[in-house]
Amino acid sequence: MKSQRVKNLRVKLWGVRGSLPTPVPPSVLEQRVRDAILADPGVEKKAGSIEFESWFQSLPPHRRGGYGGNTPCIEVSAGNTRLIVDAGSGIRALGAELLQGPCGKGAGELHLLFTHFHWDHLIGLPFFAPLFIPGNKIHLYAVQEDLPEVLKVLFHKPYFPVELGQLGAKIECHRLEPRQARQFGDISVTPYQLDHPDPCWGYRFEHEGRAYAHCVDTEATRISRQELGPDLGLYSGADLMVFDAQYTIQETVEKVNWGHAAASIGLDIALREGIRKVVFMHHDPAASDERVGAVEQQTRQYYDRIVKILKAQGQTFQDVDWRFAVEGMEIDV
Ligand SMILES: [Zn+2]
Ligand SMILES: [Zn+2]
Repeated sequence: MKSQRVKNLRVKLWGVRGSLPTPVPPSVLEQRVRDAILADPGVEKKAGSIEFESWFQSLPPHRRGGYGGNTPCIEVSAGNTRLIVDAGSGIRALGAELLQGPCGKGAGELHLLFTHFHWDHLIGLPFFAPLFIPGNKIHLYAVQEDLPEVLKVLFHKPYFPVELGQLGAKIECHRLEPRQARQFGDISVTPYQLDHPDPCWGYRFEHEGRAYAHCVDTEATRISRQELGPDLGLYSGADLMVFDAQYTIQETVEKVNWGHAAASIGLDIALREGIRKVVFMHHDPAASDERVGAVEQQTRQYYDRIVKILKAQGQTFQDVDWRFAVEGMEIDV
């Protein structure tokens, strides 16, 4: 995709909201900026200075730009290889960036992997500009066998005016084998099954001994090593895990079979499996940024409590560096 070489695995989150895009109303953003500025009486003198920037960056996301309203789209890069996971509404901005490179000239070749076909993971595809440029070659991958049928429905009147066969780019569909590694240039990818009402596949990306586990959307109903069985390999010793945290732990009890988890479940898995970094996404579309911020705070209390218990028990464990995803976030693995 892009010409510059990425040394290690890098993950960029182009969409972190679950289920439905959620633009923040202008009135909410306006009030947020006003509150932030009024919170510091010295801000006038500091505007534009290093002090101002460090103060502003110290504010939690819900008092600045928020967590982001675009649905899932993730870019994974290493060496000369770029992969895309899912085509939520976040893929529109990625498409615009890709047009600056070979894709803009009809000389691009892209690889897009789907976890599953719920609307929030597909909805951006008709607005992915590289699809409309003749000469581009776009490979689409899924474990599910119905990918070609799904695309025919998506690019079809009266839902969308351009039929699949009329797109400028050449589209090729490929099937991935469950739990079989496949090499994409510099990155190896292995699909593992997640726990979701319609089958959904997570991916483990590996490059030069580094591993990224993509675990969205999942209810994580299987938690123990025994329950996970052949899918334990998704998590073991990953350097980064991106995990589903649409709900609080109380909401997961109320919303059984809705297909989403809570951050505390991801932290339990991370502590047990020696995962160093975790980022939580698929934020509830019904939750305001303030609500997501409050859940992040509750999660902090949960993590601190668990760590205290583990220490008191004399157990050895590795600290987990974790946070809630903000749209546009880039993480070096
Ligand atoms: Zn989803
Ligand atoms: Zn889903």
